[in-house]
Parts: sequence; C-alpha cells; structure tokens
Amino acid sequence: MGNQPNDLHDVTIIGGGPAGLFSAFYSGMREMKTKVIEYLPFLGGKVPYFYPEKIIRDIGGIPQISGEKLTEQLVEQAMTFHPSVVLREQCNELEQLDDGTFVLTSDNGNRHFTRTVILATGFGTLKSVKLDLSNAYEFEGNNLRYSPKRLHQYKGKHVLISGGGNSAVDWANELEAIAEQVTLVYRKNDFSGIESNVSKMKHSTVEVKTPYFINGLAGEGGQVTQAELKNVETGETEVLSVDEIIVNHGFEIDLGHIGQWGMKMENGSIQVNGKMETSIPGVFAIGDIADYQNKLPLIAGGFNEGPIAVNSAKKYIHPDKELSHLFSTQVGACHHPNFVE
Ligand SMILES: Cc1cc2nc3c(=O)[nH]c(=O)nc-3n(C[C@H](O)[C@H](O)[C@H](O)COP(=O)(O)OP(=O)(O)OC[C@H]3O[C@@H](n4cnc5c(N)ncnc54)[C@H](O)[C@@H]3O)c2cc1C
Repeated sequence: MGNQPNDLHDVTIIGGGPAGLFSAFYSGMREMKTKVIEYLPFLGGKVPYFYPEKIIRDIGGIPQISGEKLTEQLVEQAMTFHPSVVLREQCNELEQLDDGTFVLTSDNGNRHFTRTVILATGFGTLKSVKLDLSNAYEFEGNNLRYSPKRLHQYKGKHVLISGGGNSAVDWANELEAIAEQVTLVYRKNDFSGIESNVSKMKHSTVEVKTPYFINGLAGEGGQVTQAELKNVETGETEVLSVDEIIVNHGFEIDLGHIGQWGMKMENGSIQVNGKMETSIPGVFAIGDIADYQNKLPLIAGGFNEGPIAVNSAKKYIHPDKELSHLFSTQVGACHHPNFVE
C-alpha cells in the first residue's frame, strides 16, 4: 500500500476529480510513475457526487454529456497508463525528506513516497451535513439520502425534501414530474436558491411548507415511513407519510491539514503561478483549489491546468531537460502501445 520508501512515484495526485483524472492520463503519457489518492470510495469528484444525471454543455468538443458519462470517460482515459489508485484515504501530511523527495501521510497512517505532488483536491473532501436526529442513521442510504443519484427511483413515490438552497429547490423541480407528490420543508421563509427556480417550484404542484423542519422520523426495517414536521414559529406539528426523504442541508468541505502545509493561500484557495507551482517547490495545484488571476473555475479550466502542472513536475524532476509540451498525437499516433488506433 505504498508504505515502502522504494515505492517512489514521480507524481502523486491528491484528488480524483476531473482535474486529477485528466492529469493522471497526461502524467502517464509523459511516462511518469503516477499515483492518484482519493478520499471518496469512487473517482470523479464533484461530478458524480452532485450531478451525475445533469447535462454538462461547456466542455470543448462535447456538445452535451451527462455527469455520469463524463466520469466514466475520464476514468477510462485516466487508466490508459495504469496509474496506482488509492481510494478512501484523506491525504493530510506532507514531509520533505533529506533527498528532496516527499512523503505524504493519510488519515489511516498510510505513507506515500513521491518526487512531486499535484493537489487536485477541489475545495477539500465533501461530507454532507447530516439530519440532526438521533435515529436518522437507521434510514441513511436506504430511503433517506443526502446525495441522491437516480431520478427514476422516485417514480410514483411521495418524496419529502428538506432544505432551501439551490440543490433542494432543483431536486423539487426535477422530481415534480416524476414523483407522485413532492413536499419540501425549509426552516426559513426566504429561499436562498436561484430566484427563477424558486418561482418555478412555488408555481408547481410541489407542496412547499415554511418555516418547517423535520422534527422526527419513524419507520421499520431501515425504511422511514413517517416524518414529523414542526413549524418553527408556532411549534405546531403534523405527521407526513413518506416513501423517500432527500436532505439537502449543504455539505462540509474539509481541506484537512493541507491548509497548514505553509503554501501561500488566499480565501481558502492555493495561490499558483503560470506553471501551477505553489510556494512549495515540487508541489503543484490545479482545478478548483488553485487560484490565480483570471481563474476559470470550470472543468475545462482544470483540463488546461493539469497538463501544465504535469509538465512543470517533469521539469522539476529533470531540471536539465528542456521543458516540452507534448501532445498525444506526437506520442501515440504511431506506436505507443497504450493507445489503440
Ligand atoms: C451542482 C454543480 C454543477 C456544476 N456544473 C458544471 C458544469 O456544467 N460545467 C463545469 O465546467 N463545471 C461545473 N461545475 C464545477 C465543476 O464540478 C468543478 O469545477 C470541478 O468538479 C472541479 O474539479 P476538481 O478536480 O478541481 O475538483 P473536485 O471535482 O472537487 O474533485 C476533488 C476531489 O478531491 C478529493 N479530495 C479532496 N481533498 C482530499 C484529500 N486530502 N485526500 C484525498 N482526496 C481528497 C475530493 O474527495 C474530490 O473527489 C459544477 C459544480 C456543481 C457543484
């Protein structure tokens, strides 16, 4: 598991989102021994986490693609050169050894030895804010979900949504046409979601209840069947029969100890120069976590930053070699065995 100093990688990418995955591909193409470390049990970052079924339209050459399909293709591309992939580890500590290489330590104590580091952490690990009820855990992952994946599982169901931000309102609007009935509760009267989406929801068949919150859950066999709703102002309660509950109370982003590595940071973002170098030589940052003038916080922006960071890492490892920015047709058009023509 990467605990031996002789398991030295050229590039270790922390974060398996779009930016990290595309970098893994490009790093392999530049024949660097590459490792990806991801906290979640799956690759893809925010895309499969938040919007697997939504359509992405702003990636060059791909007029439209679902989040799920993009993730599938990114993973396939990233695996072209067989990088090492480590899931379910939050990488926390960085130490530079006497020979200039780095050792990264994860939350479970695993150590990863590397010549360079590319931080592709987004804003950090994503953890949904849980429903604050002592028995909620009994239903979580069954019919109480924080990040639902499939629209069709709500077909013909009575769905209760809790939350007042964009995601909650978005889910209410998406499910209105699919579910038998959608009820949305929010503890405030004013929604924080995009105004046009809030108006759409209010003029639809979605039953909007404010200022209400979920005060209790009941069910059996791990399936919640009833929710007690409580009015914040009057204290009045009512019981609602439900088939499914979606809780969108936001999520906590945890950059862990990375923020204390000593890199120059501003407003929670790592400051990089045009080579994607952080203020620690040998450590690069790309994607949502990296910031510089005129930063483009889009997937397409990360696709540009990844190869820049990889080329900079290559130059860091081989300072005497000229920095070249190769493209795949140069490498693979004719004979690279990992490209199938
Ligand atoms: C609802 C929504 C819709 C969007 N729609 C679009 C769109 O249509 N087009 C577009 O271009 N962009 C869109 N975006 C933005 C886009 O998703 C992000 O810009 C993109 O995901 C950033 O990629 P990334 O690889 O930098 O980070 P992320 O996708 O955030 O991936 C970072 C990964 O790093 C992991 N990680 C973090 N810290 C650690 C650690 N210490 N150890 C191990 N792993 C770690 C995280 O678990 C995560 O999986 C949307 C975002 C949202 C929320």
